[in-house]
Amino acid sequence: PTPGAHSTPLLIKNILLSGQRYERSQEIVYRDISRYDYATFNQRICRLANALSAAGVKAGDTVAVMDWDSHRYLECMFAIPMLGAVLHTINIRLSPDQILYTMNHAEDIFVLVNAEFLPIYKAIENDLTTVTNTILLTDGDEKTADLPGLVGEYEELLAAAEPTYEFADFDENSVATTFYTTGTTGNPKGVYFTHRQLVLHTMTQAALMGGLDSMRLFGNRDVYMPITPMFHVHAWGIPYTATLLGTKQVYPGRYEPEMLCKLIKQEKVTFSHCVPTILQMVLNAEGAQDYDFGGMKIIIGGSALNRSLYDAAKAKGMKLSAAYGMSETCPLISSGYINLEVEQGSEDEQAAYSIKAGVPVPLAEARLMDPEGNFLEHDGKTQGELVLRSPWLTQGYYKEPEKSDELWAHGWMHTGDVASIDEMGFIDIRDRIKDVIKTGGEWISSLELEDLISKCAAVKEVAVVGVPDPQWGERPFALIVPHAGKEMDARILRDHLKQYADEGRINKWAIPTQIACVTEIPKTSVGKLNKKVIRGDIAQWQEA
Ligand code: ADP
Repeated sequence: PTPGAHSTPLLIKNILLSGQRYERSQEIVYRDISRYDYATFNQRICRLANALSAAGVKAGDTVAVMDWDSHRYLECMFAIPMLGAVLHTINIRLSPDQILYTMNHAEDIFVLVNAEFLPIYKAIENDLTTVTNTILLTDGDEKTADLPGLVGEYEELLAAAEPTYEFADFDENSVATTFYTTGTTGNPKGVYFTHRQLVLHTMTQAALMGGLDSMRLFGNRDVYMPITPMFHVHAWGIPYTATLLGTKQVYPGRYEPEMLCKLIKQEKVTFSHCVPTILQMVLNAEGAQDYDFGGMKIIIGGSALNRSLYDAAKAKGMKLSAAYGMSETCPLISSGYINLEVEQGSEDEQAAYSIKAGVPVPLAEARLMDPEGNFLEHDGKTQGELVLRSPWLTQGYYKEPEKSDELWAHGWMHTGDVASIDEMGFIDIRDRIKDVIKTGGEWISSLELEDLISKCAAVKEVAVVGVPDPQWGERPFALIVPHAGKEMDARILRDHLKQYADEGRINKWAIPTQIACVTEIPKTSVGKLNKKVIRGDIAQWQEA
């Protein structure tokens, strides 16, 4: 065959070329600080590539970024992998010790640091084993910092570099990005994704979100802003998809409710994504009460979307769609979908389908497996561990062969989630295997209890965990943040849950007899309920 004819590699540069071909005058906005068009965006990526190459970055090097969500981050998501280097998106909400661990483990050579993180960086700097050079990112006037190996300040480096760069082709199976899971147990684990995986993920996301009628989530006419950080699974990969489609993009920097609301208003944001707790925060933000969110489309993932939040958002004119995925899966695996069959049902039935984890996206396959590796029925009732296949799942955990083998036992990627799948293929996540409450031989889903408890008018937020019990093995314990001025105790909770026990939705022994009212529930670095911390703190709540 003619050389090249069968081997055009799937590379991230193709995503970039697409957007500016379609919509070169669309904007990339950063807070109320900067804005420029796609043509400039492309030039800045070339300038960055020139600056990084001049500083010594080579294919195969790992280059880390420590920043809030920004236009600069987006540029790094392209320029670094396009040079054949690996982008490490540092999870800035981890503890300094964990950040240090991830940077040494990933063998970061270059680090781009936002001035706001200098105190953390300074604290770990002496223990970094592989870093040779740094670049300063800043919105301020101070263009230098006391950083070892400082090459310069980002904007000054870009200004001095050429605006064109001929990016070479290379093997599509080269690693493009890496980042660390938030580490609910032990050290954070590194996952990694290749160019091929990211391109296929982006193409699928674009086809799905634009093309399927019940979604029509976003296209080139929308305005996109992430509210899931770029350091966590590439902001769910949507910056790549938005760039492919030539969509206007808005980056909010550090997440501050007032700034988020201001940008939504001023830039007319129509499409976003976040975990449920963050949406709750935005809805409760100062100034959000009188704001018209009409027509805004939001993907909710990372935790189950409950009916109360779905209804509250709907009352504000927002359209929510649930999606399921995890760090290991790039992340998109499935998303809520109203097919023509479900559309015949009542509004209530349609809502019930919209909040499920949804159906697997094209090129993803989901099955249920028992601990021996046997597949289980997809009848909507049988529960088992959700296992996956798709071209964009991490091949393993970086430098952790045993954990990688466990992840891929029996040739399927194990999610650690208990689910059921119905005949139509809709996935219902019941719980995480480690969060299921095992009481008197029964399994209670903490997620289902949280969903039912959140329907109680007095409840603003709730987390349910299992606590050891001499008689039952474990018993559910509910940690509740009541609405201001509302009363809440175990009796009120029991009265509320009794209806669901009478209807047979839950067993009566699933009703928590132990509850604690608090002003805040511990969250993980990405805003999810932190059940590990809650379980650790339980003695304190039990006494209180
Ligand atoms: P972490 O493991 O640190 O929480 P991830 O972002 O990888 O970080 O979380 C993935 C997990 O989030 C899944 O394994 C699942 O338990 C949960 N999750 C994600 N989407 C949904 C959803 N739509 N419904 C219920 N749980 C979800």
